[in-house]
Amino acid sequence: MLLKILLGILCGVRASATENNTAQHGPPPLLLVSFDGFRADYLQRFPMPNLKLLYSQGVLVEQLTNVFITKTFTNHYTLVTGLYAESHGILANNMYDPVTQKHFHVSNHSDPMWWSEAQPLWLTALDSGYKTATMMWPGSDVTIGNRTASYFAPYDYRVTFQQRLGNVTNWILGNDKEPGVKFAALYWEEPDRTGHIFGPDNVTAMSKALKEVDDNIGLLISELKRTGLWGHVNILITSDHGMAQCSADRLIQLDSCLHPDNYTLVDLSPVTSLIPKKDPEAVFKLLNNCNAHMTAYMKSSIPDRLHYRNNDRIQPIIVVADEGWTIVQRGDKLPRFGDHGYDNSLPSMHPFMAASGPSFRQGYRISSLKSVDIYPLMCHLLSVPPQPNNGTLNRARCLLAAESCWDVPLVIGLVVGVLLVLSTITVLFRFLSLRRPSGSRPFQRLQVDDDDDDDEPMLE
Ligand SMILES: [Zn+2]
Repeated sequence: MLLKILLGILCGVRASATENNTAQHGPPPLLLVSFDGFRADYLQRFPMPNLKLLYSQGVLVEQLTNVFITKTFTNHYTLVTGLYAESHGILANNMYDPVTQKHFHVSNHSDPMWWSEAQPLWLTALDSGYKTATMMWPGSDVTIGNRTASYFAPYDYRVTFQQRLGNVTNWILGNDKEPGVKFAALYWEEPDRTGHIFGPDNVTAMSKALKEVDDNIGLLISELKRTGLWGHVNILITSDHGMAQCSADRLIQLDSCLHPDNYTLVDLSPVTSLIPKKDPEAVFKLLNNCNAHMTAYMKSSIPDRLHYRNNDRIQPIIVVADEGWTIVQRGDKLPRFGDHGYDNSLPSMHPFMAASGPSFRQGYRISSLKSVDIYPLMCHLLSVPPQPNNGTLNRARCLLAAESCWDVPLVIGLVVGVLLVLSTITVLFRFLSLRRPSGSRPFQRLQVDDDDDDDEPMLE
């Protein structure tokens, strides 16, 4: 009993300390969590009780239209900058920069020059006087413009979700000497890893992976409740991309179309990126006629909608495989059963977003949003002036508790309904008046006076 009372006092002290550090100084802290490769329809296909609990008390965006190419580093940088790949410069997981002649790979990514075309939110928020933290978010262990987040951890896949979470909640809480952070970004590798190994159609493997993801969301909720942060922080759970099922029956062999001596390969699948060694047009023609399940583009003709053209790091020719097709150079070995990187208009490439906290509406959902809109939303939540970006707050405004907004389909439905009723009444009225006997009346042409280009003011 005594222990309970003591715990009660301690919890009370903790809770008031939390309120002092978080709620009373500026906006509530924001925790951004990414579960890599969480395809939007996993939410319908698998039970996710903890995630559903979270968004039942908050909001759900069923599908997030992410950016091309639908790869991990590209889309994680978009989430924290609001920029398309051509504008933030992280164009793929494998890149070549012709200006510096450097190569980029996910395991060799820490040269700041790759990241310096944009400024992520964990740096921008520093300029508003906030402390920030990142836990293994792609790019967050890189010194960008000579700065990092106030707290960060170098990438180490062996660190468990619980350990990552424990650090993040401590950073948000702060202590007697240091105020808590206002923005924290937390990254977790699943369900991407399982999706690659087994493919998203493998129900047994994906059930297990998603049960673990949902258990981690349960941990997140209970840890925030234990520390008194629940209800005082805005939580945003999202992902970078979805996952498509691949098959050995859907392989495209580049060597069957042109000899590898003709090009330097920068990235392979599902978006091949290459530098022709001679006659780019000839190389393009061979690739263009290579396989019906891929599309080749000269850099200058990459469609506008992909926002993937205006950057030196985009190579002279790219080739995009159709959904579920895998490009290899040679052989008939399928490298993985699941993959992503395909066209960002494909629903299988889309992730979702769920959010909860004092700034969000409760029990509200919308069908879609663009991933570039997450950044202006986060800046708004933190009262941080956004850097120039490709998103808009307008589309996300409806998610916020303090905003009133129109339900567009409902408004359209109402307007159409009213118009239908009015037209029916008019037709009925005409019909009835026609049936009434009346004297013949000559048709009168409506006189339209189009001589209105008179600049003289009208005097009454
Ligand atoms: Zn990913």
